[in-house]
Amino acid sequence: MTKRNYHPETLSVRAGSALTELGENSEALFLNSSFRFKSAAQAAARFGGTEPGNIYSRFTNPTVRMFQDKLAALEGAEHCVATSSGMSAILACVMGLCNTGDHIVASRSIFGTSVQLFTNILKRWGLEVTLVSLTDPEQWQAAVRPNTKLFFVETPSNPLTEICDIAVLADIAHKHGAHLVVDNCFCTPAIQRPLEWGADIIIHSATKYIDGQGRVLGGAVLGSKALMEPVYGFLRTAGVTMSAFNAWVFLKGLETLHVRMEAHARNALGLAQWLETKPQVARVFYPGLQSHPQHHIALRQQANGGGIVSFEVKPKANQTEKEAAWALIDSTKLISITANLGDAKSTITHPATTTHSRITPEARAEAGIRDNLVRVAVGLEHLDDLKADLQLG
Ligand SMILES: *Cc1c(COP(=O)(O)O)cnc(C)c1O
Repeated sequence: MTKRNYHPETLSVRAGSALTELGENSEALFLNSSFRFKSAAQAAARFGGTEPGNIYSRFTNPTVRMFQDKLAALEGAEHCVATSSGMSAILACVMGLCNTGDHIVASRSIFGTSVQLFTNILKRWGLEVTLVSLTDPEQWQAAVRPNTKLFFVETPSNPLTEICDIAVLADIAHKHGAHLVVDNCFCTPAIQRPLEWGADIIIHSATKYIDGQGRVLGGAVLGSKALMEPVYGFLRTAGVTMSAFNAWVFLKGLETLHVRMEAHARNALGLAQWLETKPQVARVFYPGLQSHPQHHIALRQQANGGGIVSFEVKPKANQTEKEAAWALIDSTKLISITANLGDAKSTITHPATTTHSRITPEARAEAGIRDNLVRVAVGLEHLDDLKADLQLG
């Protein structure tokens, strides 16, 4: 199936399928670790790379390959490397493309564990990291050094849904011989296709919207064949492999990606607009709102505002900011109190004491994450039931 001739919705359903002669209409789960060769010569040819084909599921599995091909078609990428989790996708990307002494410029507003990976672990291996503001291109320009290899962003960011202009950061990176990496977890290709705006590499935590139903962990790195070759080389050797079962779950998840993301975004916009009218709410963060500082970029770069809404609760008399947020969270009966996102079930989180509790209060304040901030990953329940559950009258 040629990728370019079909609409994204069709690619979600059809791309990447490698159906066997048994006639199955749904992609098969190849739950086996190794593959047999017809002869010693064929084994040698497969290992030598002169004959394509499966060898061993650490680095070749038909179900994983179907997932990779489908996601690559959706992102418009030449190649996709599937990994065991979103974090191992980031690890494989950096280990594949950077050497000791290289420098990464990363947004200060990336996933907390990604910051830990860069600043606590990879630093010990000689990687230099500078954290800058996602929304200020001048800081990116100023942070560049001769040894800068990668720019790393998440857009929209978690939990404040800040947005960067991907094309602007890609230009700065390319002027200095660096590559722009976009963690596209919050949007998925149904909403935003970073390669079309000049990004070089895409990271996914498939655990979130690509699964869409909170079942399994997985990740992916996407980009040109040339960039993905060393990433794949790291995966083949280090074994941060996606399991075939998880790939099969993600393949099924991707089939409904477009309808789900539209429904998440429709619910999220409705909830955000409603929250803006509530006197108990001090401020709402959602890219689809006109009040969002980068709304104009979101309109151009994204198909819609996505499924994540954050807001600040006004404390009542005698309440601290944290108590106000916790009281609201604890009053919900339907929405799940959990830090995960991208699930059909709506989830509610207090970032300051969960996802962002490992950074210092000063760093949190600098990032604009206040103690009264609540994040809702809006699911697929009826909007009226979600509004009722937040009990804001
Ligand atoms: C969850 C998440 C990750 C990490 O993914 P895992 O699958 O949990 O390892 C990376 N980036 C973003 C934006 C995430 O939300």
